[in-house]
Amino acid sequence: MDDETRRGIKTFRRWVDDAPAGGMVFFGGAGVSTESGIPDFRSPDGLYAQKYPHPPEQMISRSFFDARPREFFDFYCDRMLALDAQPNQAHRKLAELERAGTLSAVVTQNIDGLHQKAGSSNVLELHGSVLRNYCMDCGAAFSVDELLAQREQAEDGVPRCPACGGIVKPDVVLYEEALDEGTLQASVDAIACAALMVVAGTSLAVYPAAGLLDFFHGDHLAIVNRTPTPRDRQADLCLAANVGEVFDF
Ligand SMILES: [Zn+2]
Repeated sequence: MDDETRRGIKTFRRWVDDAPAGGMVFFGGAGVSTESGIPDFRSPDGLYAQKYPHPPEQMISRSFFDARPREFFDFYCDRMLALDAQPNQAHRKLAELERAGTLSAVVTQNIDGLHQKAGSSNVLELHGSVLRNYCMDCGAAFSVDELLAQREQAEDGVPRCPACGGIVKPDVVLYEEALDEGTLQASVDAIACAALMVVAGTSLAVYPAAGLLDFFHGDHLAIVNRTPTPRDRQADLCLAANVGEVFDF
C-alpha cells in the first residue's frame, strides 16, 4: 500500500468517526464478498468453458430459467451458491457500525446473505438473496437447504414445491428481471439522507445500481475499489485498496 492510500484510509476513518448518528450509508458490490472467498460468477475459470456452453449472463437470465430450468439450476448451484462462506472484516465492521448507531443501511448487489450473517439488520439487497426461495405457483417460502433437498429428489434436477408441484425459484434478480421497487426506493431514501456514503467493491458499471450515487447529497463520498470507476471524479476520496483493509479498524 502506498503513502497516498494510507493517508486516504486515515481520512476515511476520521469521516466515519465524525459521521452523525445514522449518517453513514454503505453501498457494496462483488468485491466485498470476494474477500470471503466468493468468486465472481462471471469470471470464467479453466473448467468453465468445458462445462457450460453458454455465457453466464445468458444462463442466469429469466428467459433461460423459463426455457431450460434444469441447466439453470446446474449452473446456479455450481457457480452461485457458496454456502460455507464466512463474513470478512468489512462485513463485521459494518455490523459493528450499525450497532453503534453510525450506519443506517447497507445497500448491496450481493446475494450471499453475508452482511446478515455478520449481524447487520438493515440490509437492502438490490439483487435478492440465495437464502430465500419461493414456489412460483403458490408462493410458499423455502430455505436454500430445502431447495437443495427438493432438487435432489427431483428426477430432472429442478426443485419443486412439495405442496403444489410448482417450480421453486430463488429470490434472486435474474437478467431481464426488474429490481424490486420497494428495495430500490428504500436504498434511494437511505442514500438521500446520508452525510457519508461509502461505495466499495463495485466497478459502478451497471445501472440502475450506479445511478444510486446521484441521490447522494451529503458531505463525503468515498469509493473503495481496486480499479478506477467511471464515478471516481464525483468522489471526495478514492481508495485503491481491499475493502477488508479499509474497514480494519
Ligand atoms: Zn407451491
